[in-house]
Amino acid sequence: MANYFNTKAVHFQKNDGEKNVSKAKPIYQTSAFTFQDLDDMEQYFSGEKEHLYTRYSNPNSDDLGHGTAELEEAPTGLATSSGMSAILAGVLAAVKPGEHMIVPLDLYGGTYQLFQTELQEWGIEVSIIDFRDLQNVKQAIQPNTVLLYAESVTNPLLRMEDIAGLVAMAAERDGMRVMIDNTFPTPYLLKPYTLGADLVVHSATKYIGGHSDVSAGVLIGGEELIGKAKKRMISMGSNLSPFESWLACRGLKTLGLRMQSQSDNAARLAEWFQESGSAEQVFYPEGLSEHGNGAMVSVNLSDAYDIKTFFASLQWIKIMPSLAGVETTVSYPVNTSHRTVPEDIRSALGISVQTVRISVGIEDSRDIISVFSQALEAAKK
Ligand SMILES: *Cc1c(COP(=O)(O)O)cnc(C)c1O
Repeated sequence: MANYFNTKAVHFQKNDGEKNVSKAKPIYQTSAFTFQDLDDMEQYFSGEKEHLYTRYSNPNSDDLGHGTAELEEAPTGLATSSGMSAILAGVLAAVKPGEHMIVPLDLYGGTYQLFQTELQEWGIEVSIIDFRDLQNVKQAIQPNTVLLYAESVTNPLLRMEDIAGLVAMAAERDGMRVMIDNTFPTPYLLKPYTLGADLVVHSATKYIGGHSDVSAGVLIGGEELIGKAKKRMISMGSNLSPFESWLACRGLKTLGLRMQSQSDNAARLAEWFQESGSAEQVFYPEGLSEHGNGAMVSVNLSDAYDIKTFFASLQWIKIMPSLAGVETTVSYPVNTSHRTVPEDIRSALGISVQTVRISVGIEDSRDIISVFSQALEAAKK
């Protein structure tokens, strides 16, 4: 019994989870779970009870892992604190120090940094090469190669990776695995696990969250690899908080609707840029899926347009060094995502000072096109 102020102040809440069934999933905003007696606690260790301590697992982060895995048609998934921590947990589950992995040159900047410096300092060998010709990958294979890593659709030039080709190559070697960053297409458009990838990773900060209000990651795969990754995640403390998990789960519910609308708008915008004659090149995938080709469009504007004036004339379309929200936003790869990439590598990849990356939102496509149209008008030299 609580008789005194300070005791009553902390024990007033009823545990009413069985009586009141909430329509929305409650947020288990708790660092740990409680038990009636020692036998009850033993049930956690025998597997009858699910949760002990939030860094190990929590109902909300479990929802995000399992929900995304279901959409990817994979056995299981793990939610982590960011896309980067999901990538790290996945790589550390598949690669040990002294082993070797092969990755493409045109990686997301943060991933490039992780592979180029951090991992190698800890003794994991990494070859960073041009994946546009898979012969290069084949030639880079060493006796200790255990992982081929790639992005299903690259950033910012939206090159589609030959996942089936990588899977076939890995299948020729015992113990060689394939890991795919599927952030750009999302499982609505592409499911790399069903194509034979062993691990699939998402920055849920992007389309899964979808509203630019959460940093989160998800790693998808089979029980064995995800089990290993989960151990790493627990030790590194890179779990996702209950509230962030809850937000990302809310995003997941509308992923299909948003991707469909955003992809449709992106296709219209890409076509419009193509016809406008304002761009040297329009980058937009072709044949990615039956539902569409994704919500990212990049363009290399012709020299007839002043890039600074263009960015300054975009009205409600904001400049943002990220992507995938419901609002249309733009970014300038040369000074953000590819700022640290040496200029020769950048131009070899086709990224120039005239490159604009557009993350297309759910607005009416007529309004989106109208903003770009007047920005081009204003930026004409
Ligand atoms: C953003 C992004 C990441 C990193 O995700 P964070 O959530 O920022 O850690 C990894 N890969 C791709 C393709 C991304 O766009």
